[in-house]
Amino acid sequence: MDLNYTTEQQAFRAEVRDWMRANVPAQPLKTLEGREGYDQHVEWERKLASGNWGMVTWPEAYGGRGLDLIRWLIFEEEYWGAGAPLRANQNGIFLLGPTIMEYGTDEQKARFLTPMAKGELMWAQAWSEPNAGSDMAAIRTVAVRDGDHYVVTGQKTWSSRASFADWGFGLFRTEPDSKRHKGLSFILFDLNSPGVTRRPIRQLHGEPGFAELFFDEVRVPVANRIAGEGEGWNVAMATAGFERGLMLRSPARFQAMAKRLVELYRQHRDTASPQAREAVLQAWQDAEAYALNTYSVAATVMAGGHIGAEASLNKIFWSELDRAAHRAAMSLLGAGAELRSLADGSENSWLEGYIFSLSGPIYAGSNEIQRNIIAERLLGLPR
Ligand SMILES: Cc1cc2nc3c(=O)[nH]c(=O)nc-3n(C[C@H](O)[C@H](O)[C@H](O)COP(=O)(O)OP(=O)(O)OC[C@H]3O[C@@H](n4cnc5c(N)ncnc54)[C@H](O)[C@@H]3O)c2cc1C
Repeated sequence: MDLNYTTEQQAFRAEVRDWMRANVPAQPLKTLEGREGYDQHVEWERKLASGNWGMVTWPEAYGGRGLDLIRWLIFEEEYWGAGAPLRANQNGIFLLGPTIMEYGTDEQKARFLTPMAKGELMWAQAWSEPNAGSDMAAIRTVAVRDGDHYVVTGQKTWSSRASFADWGFGLFRTEPDSKRHKGLSFILFDLNSPGVTRRPIRQLHGEPGFAELFFDEVRVPVANRIAGEGEGWNVAMATAGFERGLMLRSPARFQAMAKRLVELYRQHRDTASPQAREAVLQAWQDAEAYALNTYSVAATVMAGGHIGAEASLNKIFWSELDRAAHRAAMSLLGAGAELRSLADGSENSWLEGYIFSLSGPIYAGSNEIQRNIIAERLLGLPR
């Protein structure tokens, strides 16, 4: 693999850098987990789309630029390097978008992809149920066919930003008596449909981005089903692979964070413990290692390969790196760090990042489950 950038790639980098320099908000936005901050982030999504930067790897026909993964990585480096905001529509563009691209009909692609790239349709993910988190095959929310509609009844939980999003996607039991992975379908639904109730869940920092969703005989058109009836499990596994694999957590996000951490260390050098110094160094090295690994995976995918269970390695790596780096930051900031206020609204505050990093080993499939996958599928160990 050639690690040098071509002239075209460098020109592309300069183009992204110029645009970000001119457009990234000077003041950090308020947290994505509160109403006001969420709206600010949606505005940012639309600004990105106005520059045609909503999702650069998507075909031009759907609001993208048709670029390859290397240019996506360059885009991400400039994006995070410029201190640009978190993506409010990450569930849509990084998870559902690729799923529709692979499994959707032409009609579904035309209907959903462009509004997603433009930031006009914001998405929540609805897999988890009260008794079906790690064991997702235990879901019980039913979608019973009635002509050209499904009638959905049941409950989902832990749906990130479902308090504010427009639409949701999830798995539903379309054969009510089916067991485990069978009889499930992947269905998109309007969160404002009659019969949907969103109950916000406050997080550790008090913000209500999460929601429980209650479905009381909600009518959803059959046309909103992705792939065949009863084929939902395989489609959902592909979506989960996108979540753990390349797209959701690009290395640039962690490289930018590691750079800020080194800066923080410089400011607190006099009081930093040797352990904190080690942790800063380790975080910086890990972010670089993750970037190199991602370039290698991108090259493999571009050569026609695909990411399988290796996505679980990725997921464990970025979640542990994020948590360790934020712990280092908190120890540099000293005893009062956890008592600071988030009231300044800065999503870049180390405290908010620290709180969020604690959830990294849980969401996108808990790390214990990822270790099971690695043991069974990559190492061939017995169940
Ligand atoms: C920040 C955040 C955002 C999230 N966003 C969403 C979202 O948008 N949409 C959505 O649907 N869900 C979301 N979730 C929910 C998340 O997917 C679940 O929390 C996760 O899958 C774990 O499920 P659970 O909470 O039911 O824990 P459980 O499944 O009850 O697990 C509890 C513990 O037991 C361990 N465990 C369980 N089974 C095994 C096993 N077989 N072997 C070894 N260990 C095991 C788990 O790893 C975990 O440590 C989010 C969670 C968080 C924290």
